[in-house]
Amino acid sequence: MSSYRIQGATGDWEVVIGLEVHAQVISNAKLFSGASTEFGAEPNAQVSLVDAAMPGMLPTINGECVRQAVRTGLALGAQINKFSVFDRKNYFYADLPQGYQISQFKHPVVGEGTVTLDLEGGVSKGVGVERIHLEQDAGKSMHDQHPQFTYVDLNRSGVALMEIVSMPDMRSPDEAGAYLTKLRTILRYIGTCDGNMEQGSMRADVNVSVRKPGDPLGTRCEIKNVNSIRFVRQAIEVEARRQVDIIEAGGTIDQETRLFDPNKGETRSMRSKEEAHDYRYFPDPDLLPLEFDDAFIEAARESLPELPDEKKARFMEALGLNDYNASVLVAEKESSEFFETLVEALAKATKKDAAHIALKASNWLTGDLFGALNKAGKTIATSPVSAEQGAELLALVEDGTISGRIAKDVFEVMFETGKGAGSIVEEKGLKQVSDTGAIEAIIDEVIAANPGQLEQYRAGKDKLLGFFVGQVMKATQGKANPGVVNSLLKPKLDG
Ligand code: ADP
Ligand code: MG
Repeated sequence: MSSYRIQGATGDWEVVIGLEVHAQVISNAKLFSGASTEFGAEPNAQVSLVDAAMPGMLPTINGECVRQAVRTGLALGAQINKFSVFDRKNYFYADLPQGYQISQFKHPVVGEGTVTLDLEGGVSKGVGVERIHLEQDAGKSMHDQHPQFTYVDLNRSGVALMEIVSMPDMRSPDEAGAYLTKLRTILRYIGTCDGNMEQGSMRADVNVSVRKPGDPLGTRCEIKNVNSIRFVRQAIEVEARRQVDIIEAGGTIDQETRLFDPNKGETRSMRSKEEAHDYRYFPDPDLLPLEFDDAFIEAARESLPELPDEKKARFMEALGLNDYNASVLVAEKESSEFFETLVEALAKATKKDAAHIALKASNWLTGDLFGALNKAGKTIATSPVSAEQGAELLALVEDGTISGRIAKDVFEVMFETGKGAGSIVEEKGLKQVSDTGAIEAIIDEVIAANPGQLEQYRAGKDKLLGFFVGQVMKATQGKANPGVVNSLLKPKLDG
């Protein structure tokens, strides 16, 4: 695979990327209070006295959020720290009523792990995860509600976030995109974050530096709060270009925090390292350190479902799928579940081994169904054709009731009407004709009706075989079994 390079006047540059992902933990209540975390409530409808930082309120750790962070760590093959500490990160902001955020600094709950990227051409690459810590989210300032005032919504205040910090291991916008995609897939599989970037439940700080290949790491800039994978990729491209241009013009890169403006396609400075906050971290005196025993960690491990990489390996090894189909199917939990139900139902209907029909099932799913869903702007979750209905259709092809060609038409009707394949075939009289006597009679008619073509065929124009096959299929409205047609037709033509 060719590596991603930025061309400069002095030669090629390499980009180095590290991502800090904020992932909102799936839990009913906030990290240190019992207030609800549901999305879309009226402003300030989900704010406890703790979240509003009323004097004298005490935070109480929500065990479920801790368990979710541990499950995430385990899913990334990471070290789980049996001892971790919550710290206060002090800063002032209108939507941060405590005047500090409770986070983890020196002792995060999860240590080093890995995310395996699936890159083009079946290539994979491991990207290191440095740590995962738990922290509170802040509230939201609303600048568009009043001409003079800014309003504050504290619904998000105190919601649990996992900050997942990668090592500076990525080398292109594609790799950063693949990292976020894979991370999101894993979080969704295990149900620790819904990965919904539009709603802000997953956002990324993007650290970018450039260097000549082989040189030590350059100075990085951090692009804050990028909220889509497409924007992450764009931000990396423009930021790397900006840095190369500065260095080649004789300047140096200041380590700073920047913002990406998707409308202008540029990053601009937010604050420099010198103006950066001194957060004065110290252990929160209201909270005890977290200590886990092995049983807690093992229970969390046992609660994990089969992970996407494991599933993909099983689809390839046990069911004989190719790398591409397996990757596409495991990319979303719903697709993989649909596929498994489809294979199971088809195996049952045909009394065949799953490995024998899995390839056909995956081709139909990734080709026909995904294609139709795409065109209709639907997803697997809103598919008008269920896995069981798909199995019914494929079973009709398997047992020779309909041809593969007719199956495409039947599928179209199924997709439009939600009807079952069997009843459509019945209603429209689409059953494949395999009866040799009936087909032979039609062949004889076709040959008799086309003496000119028969003569040319016998004079050596072999291509006309296709013409005769076509005529027979036409006469049977596509219902003749093509295998039977071929085996009967040629001997008759050859005389
Ligand atoms: P800080 O403590 O200042 O936030 P970290 O070492 O925690 O710095 O790094 C934060 C993020 O920046 C990590 O994701 C890391 O991979 C990334 N990073 C560190 N150095 C570089 C670099 N030279 N270029 C690009 N990314 C980097
Ligand atoms: Mg950091």
